[in-house]
Amino acid sequence: MLRFSTRKVLVIGLGLIGGSFARALRTRGLVDEVAGYDRNRGECELGLSLGVIDCVVDDLEAAVRKADLIVLAVPVKVMEQVLCEIKPWLNPQTLLTDVGSTKGNLVEAARRLFGTLPSGFVPGHPIAGTEKSGVGASDESLFVRRKLILTPLPETDPEATLAIARLWQGVGSEVLQMEVSRHDEVLAATSHLPHLLAFSLVDTLAHEAENTDIFRYAAGGFRDFTRIAASDPTMWHDICFANRDQLLAQIDRFSSGVERLRDAIERGDSQALLGIFTRAKSAREHFS
Ligand code: NAD
Repeated sequence: MLRFSTRKVLVIGLGLIGGSFARALRTRGLVDEVAGYDRNRGECELGLSLGVIDCVVDDLEAAVRKADLIVLAVPVKVMEQVLCEIKPWLNPQTLLTDVGSTKGNLVEAARRLFGTLPSGFVPGHPIAGTEKSGVGASDESLFVRRKLILTPLPETDPEATLAIARLWQGVGSEVLQMEVSRHDEVLAATSHLPHLLAFSLVDTLAHEAENTDIFRYAAGGFRDFTRIAASDPTMWHDICFANRDQLLAQIDRFSSGVERLRDAIERGDSQALLGIFTRAKSAREHFS
């Protein structure tokens, strides 16, 4: 038996990710109760009618005091505000986790608020999602065979980490652990930069599209590459600023790479161009 219970769960922020986790926990019978709280009550009402949650929270203080596990699934920009709101009502046995796409900003905010972090605090990030938002798009299978990164801190009780890891494994995820700074570095490269590039490419071409109707001729590769440019602009705005330093470093690395390609084309350097493409193809085949 672990010291931490996960029987009564409170999800704060009942959108795509919070709703999908709630749904997955309920349909698999992993917990006794999932309560949902969202600043947009309509999301909770919809969640209740779709069977995503057992009940809608009206009194946040009472719900926080009662919960064994609180899952913060709000945009990264409002994590600190929500932490500040619920802090007075947390008890030492409460498990607290999140699903935010950036971790350094959350941990810094938590340190500012708590000083010494609660032993039940286990930051997390599911490497799963879609370009959709809202509880209506939630999917109980979203996390199946997807990675879930936990970034426990020196103050985190290993039993708290284990309790959270078991829940994510229960909904089908492969659980990994990482340092907070490593998480933000890796995600800047593999998620935040690609989103930025997709937004940038579509935006650049969209200016031209008004004149030349360019998207009519877009084939599968363009669609695959730019699907994520349909993601929520506000969410990605927040992520860019929350992971600013790591993202700037990745943009600089990428710009140098594009510059090398440009040079090779300009100089007619087939060897350099083929070298880059061949290395990339082999790396891509290795991980797929
Ligand atoms: P979403 O917009 O679908 O849901 C966010 C919900 O939070 C909304 O229902 C909103 O009303 C609610 N909310 C906002 N401020 C609130 C507040 N102060 N109090 C209570 N509720 C509030 O977004 P999402 O895609 O589910 O993203 C949620 C979190 O998951 C974000 O931190 C995001 O970085 C992370 N994440 C998203 C993805 C993805 O692909 N969408 C993947 C992994 C992680």
